[in-house]
Amino acid sequence: MSMSHEDYAYDQYMSDLYEEHGKEAVEEFTGERLRSYYSQNKLLAKPAFDFLSEAKKQNELNPTIGLLFAVIAMEVGLKATLLKPIVHGLVHDESSASLITDLTVSHTGMDRYRTLLLHILKEHGGVDLNTFKRAKSDKTLWEELKEMQKIRNSIMHRADKASKESADLALDVASEILKKIFPEIITRMGFHLHDGYRICANWECKYKGST
Ligand SMILES: [Zn+2]
Repeated sequence: MSMSHEDYAYDQYMSDLYEEHGKEAVEEFTGERLRSYYSQNKLLAKPAFDFLSEAKKQNELNPTIGLLFAVIAMEVGLKATLLKPIVHGLVHDESSASLITDLTVSHTGMDRYRTLLLHILKEHGGVDLNTFKRAKSDKTLWEELKEMQKIRNSIMHRADKASKESADLALDVASEILKKIFPEIITRMGFHLHDGYRICANWECKYKGST
């Protein structure tokens, strides 16, 4: 596959950033930066959660729409709840952080940067997305995500339809990210969630028993 000029420019940009941040990034990155991002962005998971709820409804009515909503939930969920908080600890301006996060998930040339982010996620968040598999799956979550993106693309570009099976799988993958991995990291940071998505740093809640 040939690269467009734009792709090349992105790759060069990412490569420079990697040189700039990669070497010491892992050593310098602190869990406190991650905690502070989560505590300042308490509703970061809500948009993805809303799409996940809608995907669940749509799956029964129209698997193609269900799959599209689930892929949005998984991509946005992965980016907003796991990757962007880390990128923000590395790159301090908002627009660069958003760009890097988007490219890490969508752009094939991003493997090196992705490796760095996933390494930090493993160190501080306790989840290794290079090897993480859902309980019932023999593929990694990242492989499943890539497969779902391919189906999404075939719907978008060739007007293909999704099977109920694919739509259910997409829903499971999105749920794994938002309802298992994300809550585990939030717990690890010393926070808890309300309504499944709202980050709360008030330790008193736990003892009052409100959830
Ligand atoms: Zn609370």
